Amino acid sequence: MIEISNLSKVYTMGGESVYALNNVSLTIAPDEFVAIMGRSGSGKSTLLQILGLLDTPTSGSYRLFGKEVSHLTEDALAIYRRETLGFIFQQFHLLPRMSALENVAMPLLYSGLTNLPESPERLMADVSLGDRMHHRPSEMSGGQQQRVAIARSMVNSPRILLADEPTGNLDTLSQTDILRLLGDMHKSGIGVIVVTHDDEVGEATNRIIRMQDGKIISDKSKKKIVTRPEFLYTQKKNLQKHNPFTYFLQLLQEGYRAVLANKLRSALSMLGIMIGVASVIAMLALGRGAQNSIESQLKGLGANVMVVRPGAVRVGGVAQETGSPARISYDDIEYIGSSVAGIKGVSGNVTSRAQISYANKNWNTQVQGSNVAYGEIRSATPIAGRMFTEQENKTRARVAIIGLTVVRELYGEENPIGTFIKINKINFQVIGVMPAKGGTGWRDQDDIVVVPLKTAMYRLMGKTYVDSLDIEGDGKASLDDVGDAVKRALYSRHRIPLSMQDDAYQVMNLADIRAAVSSTSSTMSVLLAAIAAVSLLVGGIGIMNIMLVSVTERTKEIGLRKAVGARHTDILYQFLIETLAVSISGGLLGILLGVAISLSLSSFAGWATSISSMSVFLAVFFSVFTGIVFGIYPARKAAQLNPIEALRHE
Ligand code: ADP
Ligand code: MG
Repeated sequence: MIEISNLSKVYTMGGESVYALNNVSLTIAPDEFVAIMGRSGSGKSTLLQILGLLDTPTSGSYRLFGKEVSHLTEDALAIYRRETLGFIFQQFHLLPRMSALENVAMPLLYSGLTNLPESPERLMADVSLGDRMHHRPSEMSGGQQQRVAIARSMVNSPRILLADEPTGNLDTLSQTDILRLLGDMHKSGIGVIVVTHDDEVGEATNRIIRMQDGKIISDKSKKKIVTRPEFLYTQKKNLQKHNPFTYFLQLLQEGYRAVLANKLRSALSMLGIMIGVASVIAMLALGRGAQNSIESQLKGLGANVMVVRPGAVRVGGVAQETGSPARISYDDIEYIGSSVAGIKGVSGNVTSRAQISYANKNWNTQVQGSNVAYGEIRSATPIAGRMFTEQENKTRARVAIIGLTVVRELYGEENPIGTFIKINKINFQVIGVMPAKGGTGWRDQDDIVVVPLKTAMYRLMGKTYVDSLDIEGDGKASLDDVGDAVKRALYSRHRIPLSMQDDAYQVMNLADIRAAVSSTSSTMSVLLAAIAAVSLLVGGIGIMNIMLVSVTERTKEIGLRKAVGARHTDILYQFLIETLAVSISGGLLGILLGVAISLSLSSFAGWATSISSMSVFLAVFFSVFTGIVFGIYPARKAAQLNPIEALRHE
């Protein structure tokens, strides 16, 4: 039952008031078939929109089935609208991305009704389009599209159908079709109110209301048409609502459909998030890999061992020739070993890269010169053959102990012990094989040749000073004390002035090195976090931009969805989920890319990488977060659109 009294709708245009409806009063029973006719601009559409709860009057009262609706909120109107009314528009307003059947079923997403008296398929058959269900609107004629729209208007079992010039865009034949369909709907017990210019349509109805200048100028009823009033409505009371889970699943499905409809655009907007996530994952993997490899290098270093180097504290640095008096000479090794208390063993070390060859094979590797104590201090006693002797060191003997990687590269399966290799073109006899240090080092620790320190200094490298000392404490004195004693010895032997003593030598034990490594890696983490934040910000802005375009583009769609009963939150969720679909897909692709980059870095560039599940989790979290933060604004913008204005949008 429609009861309006003294209803007015006033538009203010350029300071002037236009009465689209001027004090209109009207009563329509729920089983009538009414035509509203009149010249263009007479207020027909305005009346129909207010009757259809798409618009609210400026003043007056409107009672729909006994409920005063003139001042309901937008969401309350949307709910009441979808429970009681169905709409048919002159421009059909089908959604182009969906099949005819999906268009018909679309209002159910919002009403959530299940076990309907008439399923969407059934309704498609009712409008004689049972064989066209899976066609897109663009593959149909105007008449067919309008029939789909009629089926859609019926899907929530409305009590009243409202149609604004439903035949205005159609040829005569389709017009007759539509008219007959509206008549059928009416006979099944639904009220039908149709705005029309067409006298033929008027003839088919049982009441004609004529309007002019916002007023009703005539209202003529003809013979009553027999209907089954309230028939469908009684059935509707038994309908069930579907659960929120299916609702969100459907929104997600529609989100992906929208994303796929604009593949290139979506892909480009995903790119930002994808690159951000991928770089974070790859860099975290690199950072972790580096840390792991440092850890594995440290493994060979006993808890009682420290390293002494000339120069300021640096991690992984090599001794530099700065002209500073802070040096370590060969004699220092013997002096420290014999005169500083609390020391079990000392080894001087020099390293350099060198070209080595055996038979016709060449290999570039790291050559290290060390004292005999090196084997003990670094747990590097040969697994095959023997360590060189002090005598061999003194006589600068050309003997070498080689690492497993060198064995593999130069010898394959052959036994290297006793053979001769050339190091920088000088002949050396292989006397032993180093134990595997392995690890996931960025530097392969088995890719090494160890020779006596003096041999290395004077025959191979031409160094007069050693690069570093490995010192093993005897376990009784504290390492710090031993370190200080070593420093004092070096200061006096090299006459280091007091002012330079602070930076002259660097003494590090395992704990120091660990601390240095972890401080480096925490700096790196902060850096990575900053990169991540910036790239996700950029990616998020890209997505927001594209969503804003999408909202503008789909204004009509939003209007239609609201007209068929979508509430503010329905639209909000739809666009938010769409944004999330883009950002999460971007995030997932970013994870794949990041993993691929990490793997190829380690397999092609030989860098150690280690992908943590934490970084993958963070990536997912941040892409969801970005989606929500940058999706809210466009989604709210969409949700706030007024249905009528949105439908009119070009
Ligand atoms: P009809 O459907 O009979 O052609 P309408 O109901 O669309 O007429 O319009 C009635 C009057 O209200 C017209 O004079 C029209 O210009 C005016 N009008 C309708 N909608 C608006 C609007 N959104 N803003 C300003 N004026 C409007
Ligand atoms: Mg109109």
